[in-house]
Amino acid sequence: MNFYLGIDYGTSGARGIAIDETGCIQAEVRHPMKMSIADRWDSALWSLLAEIPESLRREIKAIAINGTSSTVLLCDATGKPVDAPLFYNDGRGAVVLEQLQSVAPANHTVLSATSSLAKLLWMSQQLFFGEAKYFLHQADWLAFLLHGQIGISDYHNALKLGYDVEELKYPEWLKKLQIPIQLPQVLPPGTPIAEIRPEIADKFRFRRDCLVCAGTTDSIAAFLASGAKSPGEAVTSLGSTLVLKLLSQKRLEDARYGIYSHRLGDLWLTGGASNAGGAVLQQFFTNAELESLSCEIDPSKASELDYYPLLKAGDRFPINDPHLPPRLEPRPNNPVEFLHGLLESMARIEAYGYELLQQMGADKLNFVYTAGGGAANSTWTAIRGRCLKVPVISSVNAEAAYGTALLAMQGVEKEKVA
Ligand code: ADP
Repeated sequence: MNFYLGIDYGTSGARGIAIDETGCIQAEVRHPMKMSIADRWDSALWSLLAEIPESLRREIKAIAINGTSSTVLLCDATGKPVDAPLFYNDGRGAVVLEQLQSVAPANHTVLSATSSLAKLLWMSQQLFFGEAKYFLHQADWLAFLLHGQIGISDYHNALKLGYDVEELKYPEWLKKLQIPIQLPQVLPPGTPIAEIRPEIADKFRFRRDCLVCAGTTDSIAAFLASGAKSPGEAVTSLGSTLVLKLLSQKRLEDARYGIYSHRLGDLWLTGGASNAGGAVLQQFFTNAELESLSCEIDPSKASELDYYPLLKAGDRFPINDPHLPPRLEPRPNNPVEFLHGLLESMARIEAYGYELLQQMGADKLNFVYTAGGGAANSTWTAIRGRCLKVPVISSVNAEAAYGTALLAMQGVEKEKVA
């Protein structure tokens, strides 16, 4: 039997999920850790591998790893980090934005203080840069530890480095920055890179022909886990914020709304994120209250309350207005009515978001999977179904590690066909 291992380095820790050829989970392991301490990335990887039952490790045919998008580091020629990595939300790149604007096309996704390219440009102006040979994303470096070939990435991680995912090459404008560093070679996510290093195979009793594949980012891995596959299928993540992803035949880019597309084989994963979301619900209700009060709402009736639930002023998608004020009035005395208004208003924002993506040319929405803390709320699901006018169900699996295991499996299958 062949098994496939997906490893997820998310914001709260590392996880591993091994699946069989039918997609059934055979093992699930976790390693909680503070992601801000990078010198523990490798030890977390070794302990995750060690926790997988040995009998199963021997059957693993391929491994892929996802990291947080735009968490990056510099390494020397041997792959040793020359300084601490910059994490996904590190905004030090703000100081190089003007320089980036002078070379990158207007509204390009690299034009953000937290983009991988802004981080690289900032790093290139630091003293430690002299020791650096390679620039890598978190997932690239972790995979390198397993396969030993330094300098390889995938086109999901490389999008915010400026890699042209349509032409499959680094664009000419990037060269104008003249950053003296080896940029990673970019492969389609899931592509087998090499067999696992023999010393690691022997130490952990993996088979010697176990393949290590190109990885992806944590949010794309969660999309892959959802079960969505065809154009028109979408995944809404109801976490602290409201994140929409719609699979489409057309690529969408509109920096005004924070909309960009990831390449997914022959399709495009289009999407946007609103600041409205579960964090606002948490301001007013505990999770237990959310559950009990939701049971008292009649989801078949529309709430008349028209809110725009935000923690602070400003949203980008689906309304692009940095000054948009939170709208949470009038507030009824009855908490059931208030919660109904909040859930209904967020469902309207979600519906408007998908409408906007379709207006811009995305495929017609026909199915919505749901992930995140709000996915378990069946009342909200029913309200959203009424507003979206398409079937709404929970994701098949919400774990990024599961999506990455599927990616490893599909990568190996594709290789066989080719
Ligand atoms: P993130 O990873 O984005 O922080 P999660 O996916 O863990 O978020 O989801 C947490 C959010 O889910 C919280 O903001 C909370 O308000 C929301 N949530 C939890 N339980 C419910 C519920 N029963 N109904 C609606 N929302 C809920």
